[in-house]
Amino acid sequence: MEHPENDSQYTGLTVNSGVVQPPSVNPYLVRRQRRPLPSAGELAEGILKGDITTLSRAVTLVESLHPDHQAVAQEVIEKCLPYSGNSRRIGITGVPGAGKSTSIDVFGLHVLKDGGKLAVLAIDPSSERTKGSILGDKTRMEKLAVHPDAFIRPSPSAGSLGGVARKTRETIVLCEAAGFNNIFVETVGVGQSETAVHSMVDFFLLIQLAGTGDELQGIKRGIMEMADGIVINKADGDNVHRAQLAMAQFKSALQLFPPTASGWVPEVLTYSGYYELGIPEVWDMIDRYFAFVKSTGYFETKRNNQARYWMYETIDEKLRSRFYNDHDVRDLLEDNERRVLENRLSSFIAARNVLDFYFNKEGK
Ligand code: GDP
Repeated sequence: MEHPENDSQYTGLTVNSGVVQPPSVNPYLVRRQRRPLPSAGELAEGILKGDITTLSRAVTLVESLHPDHQAVAQEVIEKCLPYSGNSRRIGITGVPGAGKSTSIDVFGLHVLKDGGKLAVLAIDPSSERTKGSILGDKTRMEKLAVHPDAFIRPSPSAGSLGGVARKTRETIVLCEAAGFNNIFVETVGVGQSETAVHSMVDFFLLIQLAGTGDELQGIKRGIMEMADGIVINKADGDNVHRAQLAMAQFKSALQLFPPTASGWVPEVLTYSGYYELGIPEVWDMIDRYFAFVKSTGYFETKRNNQARYWMYETIDEKLRSRFYNDHDVRDLLEDNERRVLENRLSSFIAARNVLDFYFNKEGK
């Protein structure tokens, strides 16, 4: 019997049988077949043809942590490397609200007026702003987002800065192989990410705002020192005068800095991204910079230095992750750390214990 309560001994009590419930799993659901991983050769071929879908796919593999994806990605990068390098790599930084998105949109359209292609990449290790969503970045740059010659890619999702930056650097190679001759790398000007961007671009543009009283306050000296150009945004309406004042302050501050390695004297300009004022002047400065560093040979020197930097950076990162991800090392670290904290072992001996163990293990 379905309900024991309906037994004749329980008079006056009847329990209705329930309604038949539909299954909780949709019987019509067809599991989507995973697309097989394309070969590195296929991907590289598509990229060299300038196929954006293939490029996006390859970038996804670059960003993936899966070892199989990484293996294919590295092979694609290697195949694309001979076709890379032929672009202007421009880093753009500024605090949130400085107008980076608005400016990149108009700078981008300005650059594309002369033909060519533009990729906008980002380094944002916190990835808080967009949470890695493409929509976030697409709506930030409305005009570029619908431009057929622009490729916008949000920052690889959160991870160590070194890791995020390396992926962006590798993505540059793929974009260049796909024929993108302008690369913008955007970063939020609040942390260490500027250094990472600086290590992969030819020109570093710092977007500043006027009208906050002491203009130079809160700007890290190091960031200003890296800048090849400082542009003061929102020079429109009532703000024009203050922007000009800020420009004068930045100019005099820059004079106190030591000469740059390139011999280029960083310039300061005002513009308005929103009202599209002063855009050609900003671009004129960037053109002059490229003409200058190409004439002196600094362009090549810097790219070589960057290539060397990334080689060692990658070695560092791989060594570190291999060391710290080793299970035996982890146990040993835990044990030694405890003894250090209990004052039973010096930090140096503890470090040596673990390292000796690791090197011995590796040597076997
Ligand atoms: P981001 O956080 O650096 O990407 O800055 P956004 O591009 O999102 O701009 C932040 C705010 O400043 C937005 O409300 C923009 O409309 C505004 N803004 C950007 N550029 C200008 C400009 O040239 N003039 C004025 N008045 N406002 C601007």
